[in-house]
Amino acid sequence: MLPLLGLDESDISALLGPAAPRYRARQIYEAIYKHRNLHLASATALPKHLRQSLARTHTPGWPSIASRYQSADGARRYLLSLGDAKTVEAVFMPEEARDTLCISSQVGCPVDCRFCLTALMGLERNLTAGEIVGQVMTLAQDNGLWAGRTRINIVMMGQGEPFLNLPNVLKAARLLCDPNGLNISPRRITVSTSGITPRLAEFAAAHPRPKLAISLNASTEDQRRELMPITGKYHLKDLIHACRAYPLRPWERLTFEYVLLKDVNDSDADARRVAGLLAQLRAKVNLIALNPGPGIPYNCPDPARVAAFQAIVRRSLPCFIRRPRGLDIFAACGQLKRMESAPAPLVDLNP
Ligand code: SAH
Ligand code: SF4
Repeated sequence: MLPLLGLDESDISALLGPAAPRYRARQIYEAIYKHRNLHLASATALPKHLRQSLARTHTPGWPSIASRYQSADGARRYLLSLGDAKTVEAVFMPEEARDTLCISSQVGCPVDCRFCLTALMGLERNLTAGEIVGQVMTLAQDNGLWAGRTRINIVMMGQGEPFLNLPNVLKAARLLCDPNGLNISPRRITVSTSGITPRLAEFAAAHPRPKLAISLNASTEDQRRELMPITGKYHLKDLIHACRAYPLRPWERLTFEYVLLKDVNDSDADARRVAGLLAQLRAKVNLIALNPGPGIPYNCPDPARVAAFQAIVRRSLPCFIRRPRGLDIFAACGQLKRMESAPAPLVDLNP
């Protein structure tokens, strides 16, 4: 059985074959994405024999919710089961003016950042485009978000390195943004990469193209190689160079994320170097004080240090401190490792 979620209109046309009326693929596409019918059986505009034959060959392909972990701050971490019984995590973060969904691009991550719990999982496999879109659909459905669709923000900052699964990530972006389907603006989607520089041009050429965030995390080449060993291959110098050539749209800035590690990369000198590195770019910086976890050999700097760092960077470019969400349930940045222990109570799956 194959999943329906993840098919675009041309995939559906190919599936139906040349004998099907031309409008049929669009009808099925809309049933899946616009009307979000979990089962095509309820798409009564389709002929019954077609619904029956599709049900024989295809599953809906939505991930199912294995667990929900509720944070005291309102965030919810989801453990989602995929078709092959692998599981992946996604996080719902309600805010006053908008709701943010943090989704994964891979099961685990092949990149070896030393401050990140997901790195300890290694890579289990890439997610398909349908599994990426399925996280959004499942979390939006479960939290009743479709009515206020314009409030939804999506950040691809969960498990995985999106640029190492780029074809599926870009197909998912096309499905999420299609006006005939889910119709989410690409301005409301951010893809975060650890900086796989050779893939930047391909991302830049994509249409639709989400916003881009880059995990800088260090202020010198050596420091970055220490914290993110993969950057031995993808140098900081080349990354900044590629960012200069990146075709920003008039409304857009590049976001740089910087995880602050106590006494490692959080000094005034680091802050000045960060400002210097990004000086030529239309950019902003999001500071993330380390979210700790078992097996992570770093500490979180105190708030005064974070504020001092921010003040220095701010002299040159916009710089914000990202408030951690869902720390108590292992849902915050870099904490997604399918942690079972959750001090907050589990939400009843069948309320
Ligand atoms: N793989 C992508 C996206 C997922 S990680 C990337 O690295 O960009 C999302 C963000 O969380 C990254 O900016 C990463 O640097 C940050 N992060 C990882 N581990 C963290 C931790 N323990 N505490 C705080 N932020 C962390
Ligand atoms: Fe992977 Fe991002 Fe974690 Fe690095 S920070 S290990 S790239 S998920």
